[in-house]
Amino acid sequence: MSTDRIIFSRPFRAARELPNVEAVLSSDHSHGDGPFTAAATAKLREVTGAPYALLTTSCTHALEMSGLLLELGPDDEVIVPSFAFTSSATAMALRGATVVFADIDLSTGNLDPESVAQLITPRTKAIMVIHYGGVAADMEGLQRLADANGIAIIEDNAHGLGGRWRGRPLGTIGTIGALSFHDTKNIHCGEGGAVLLTDEILMARAEIIREKGTDRARFLRGAVDKYSWQDIGSSYLPSELNAAVLDAQLSEFDTIQENRHRVWNTYAAALPEWARRNDVRLMTVPADRDHTAHLYYLRVPDEHRRDDLITHLAQRGIVAPFHYVPLDSSPAGLKLGRTPVPCTRSAEFSGTVVRLPLWPGLTAEQLARVVDGVTSFTV
Ligand SMILES: *Cc1c(COP(=O)(O)O)cnc(C)c1O
Repeated sequence: MSTDRIIFSRPFRAARELPNVEAVLSSDHSHGDGPFTAAATAKLREVTGAPYALLTTSCTHALEMSGLLLELGPDDEVIVPSFAFTSSATAMALRGATVVFADIDLSTGNLDPESVAQLITPRTKAIMVIHYGGVAADMEGLQRLADANGIAIIEDNAHGLGGRWRGRPLGTIGTIGALSFHDTKNIHCGEGGAVLLTDEILMARAEIIREKGTDRARFLRGAVDKYSWQDIGSSYLPSELNAAVLDAQLSEFDTIQENRHRVWNTYAAALPEWARRNDVRLMTVPADRDHTAHLYYLRVPDEHRRDDLITHLAQRGIVAPFHYVPLDSSPAGLKLGRTPVPCTRSAEFSGTVVRLPLWPGLTAEQLARVVDGVTSFTV
């Protein structure tokens, strides 16, 4: 039996990556918004059905653009799940807005609409939703609250490219969607991201915010004869080198997803009996959602035994990490946020979750070793 280390995540290698990068370097056009940006953007719009998409330098920057598009300021509050990556909170705090932490639903790790309902005030400007592991949040409950109170929804869809809620593509349900192409995500270009929009007016502003506050995008289309400073903004567009890698990856999106689902389905088929005997919760996907096989996680009943499982797997050369540390009790969360109702379920989820290796190239032999490693542990 092989004892090679089985790492948690390994970026997919797409066939066209190097030829595409070579084409960019030979073209005298490496800065943003060239032909590979256009091609990758078209593919993203095809996968998501989004009327508008803009590549960005990261998901964090896509979330910062969301804060600028919604004109957030110091008088505003944004409701963010406590169990989240830091970008969801810090992109809002960067605009001076107060982050108000909400709790999650233990069955999915996603924002709980009942928790959100308790936190809405006249200052609430947006709700930040994460589709954890690529499984959609309860969008019906959240959309109802947003509509009733005139609040925007930002979808941090870093995990959910290609996922669906009741047939609707994730990232296009709320006001603004954000994607990540960090090399730990299903599709990557080293570091990268995108903004998805359905509103034409927001799109016109987003183009300006992304290009140093100028209408250069309109100029490049020939709509104006020179470009000038129009609004505040920054430089959120990726270089063609990143877009070239992204385009190569998106060309093989179906293969990547098939292989991630193969891994996910192997775990889902092999672990239920062990989980029942050990009181372990396996990741579940509600029937009205199509997930993206971004993560496969388990929840062990208590934190000490969870840490013991991580050690047990590490001794067998298997890297299986925990996940987000709750934001509400983090140093910046205490300083920049408010937690009117304790986020006890976020703390419980964070203390009990463990993620198994999941990447397209995992072999049947490696998967058997992971399954064997997990099922040889007694909680
Ligand atoms: C990875 C991730 C981000 C940040 O993405 P970057 O592209 O690295 O900025 C934000 N939110 C979630 C949920 C993520 O998983």
